[in-house]
Amino acid sequence: MTRSIIKDAEWTLGPVTAEGAPLAIYSAVCMECRAEAKPTDSEPLPVEVWALKHTGLNPVHRQFKSMVETYWRMTPAENNPYRENGDQGA
Ligand SMILES: [Zn+2]
Repeated sequence: MTRSIIKDAEWTLGPVTAEGAPLAIYSAVCMECRAEAKPTDSEPLPVEVWALKHTGLNPVHRQFKSMVETYWRMTPAENNPYRENGDQGA
């Protein structure tokens, strides 16, 4: 988490922790043919298995762009005028 004061209001930057929100979304693209793995929530293994199978079927396709997408949320600190009921302190 990262804290910062912007225009006299203190904010904390952290991951989105809402129920059902993924920790990350994983995906990959083959750099040879641009084939794309189906993105997965919070679990990289299916994308890794896809890359292994893709190379197994196409032995000259050996490089991939791996992507991990995460989400951030800004939370107002206790003394922040934008803080409302339900905002979690950090
Ligand atoms: Zn490929």
